[in-house]
Amino acid sequence: MPDAIVAEGLVKRYGRLVALDGLDLTVPEGTVTALLGPNGAGKTTTVRVLTTLLVPDAGQATVAGVDVLREPRILRSRIGASGQYAAVDEYLTGFENLEMVGRLYHMGTKRSKERARELLDRFRLTDAADRPVKGYSGGMRRRLDLAGALVANPPVLFLDEPTTGLDPRARLDLWDVIEELVAGGTTLLLTTQYMDEADRLADSIAVIDHGRVIAEGTADELKAMVGGDRIELTVDRVEAMATVEAALKSLADGELHLEPGLRRITIPVADGSQALVEAIGRLAVHDVRIHDVGLRRPSLDDVFLTLTGHEAVLSADGDEHEKNEELETVKGAAR
Ligand code: ATP
Repeated sequence: MPDAIVAEGLVKRYGRLVALDGLDLTVPEGTVTALLGPNGAGKTTTVRVLTTLLVPDAGQATVAGVDVLREPRILRSRIGASGQYAAVDEYLTGFENLEMVGRLYHMGTKRSKERARELLDRFRLTDAADRPVKGYSGGMRRRLDLAGALVANPPVLFLDEPTTGLDPRARLDLWDVIEELVAGGTTLLLTTQYMDEADRLADSIAVIDHGRVIAEGTADELKAMVGGDRIELTVDRVEAMATVEAALKSLADGELHLEPGLRRITIPVADGSQALVEAIGRLAVHDVRIHDVGLRRPSLDDVFLTLTGHEAVLSADGDEHEKNEELETVKGAAR
């Protein structure tokens, strides 16, 4: 399978700050790669370089067979991009926005109108087609923004944090739309700070931190890198955490992870069920009330923590994800 995106040694500095520090990335045609990393890791900078919006200080890149630095104009006609910097005009209707994109791509009035209707239909926006975008919900805007990126039918698509700031329902909805899209063969590079998003959408995940790819693989491969199961245990009082830590430390196969805000302790263990039985037995002799205890497979959160030594931190607008369990974990730990 040929590669749709190849980036080699990308470097981008802003004064003394190194946003990209020799980033390498390869995305085979027809696959989905997620760039996963916390705020400031360099995700947006990577996308901006690969979509010709930013010239790197060093390195090279090819997208859809076109050299990003030498032929930016040709490249722009072969890619679609959408995301954080949503390019929709608030005062135009959904239909007018898409029609305008078609005309920008010199598709002609008739074809632009047809394409706008097709996409509105595909993204379930037909009913809202003639309303100004300023009255759209967050999820509708994202769908329109995504539709805008598809007007010219690009073989390679870049989505920068497509669901940041959406409520859980709108997120699921957008995931469905993205999955349909990639089933049609589009190559997708997606950036996200959400483990569950990368897990759900991507064939391959590149974990990025401080402007470099620090690990790459499928979700399962990355999880395998951080070892076996986790005992996850919640106690009723934060004071009890030290007792639990002391009692169970010798069971751990790796670092214990304490989240005082959630009164939760996570213990990596080699032999899951055996260790769980042993842990409960040990705690029975202590004056500790266990609120909740269970065994779980390592999550991508664990991967990030193991690889970088720090949590994947949330942006302020992540607050809207309150109901999402994985994110609760991250926020609770940061408290
Ligand atoms: P986020 O999730 O916050 O968008 P990110 O992984 O996309 O994070 P980037 O936006 O690529 O991160 O930023 C990488 C680093 O470069 C950050 O430290 C950021 O502050 C810095 N940076 C980005 N753009 C500029 C700029 N125009 N001027 C100065 N510094 C910048």
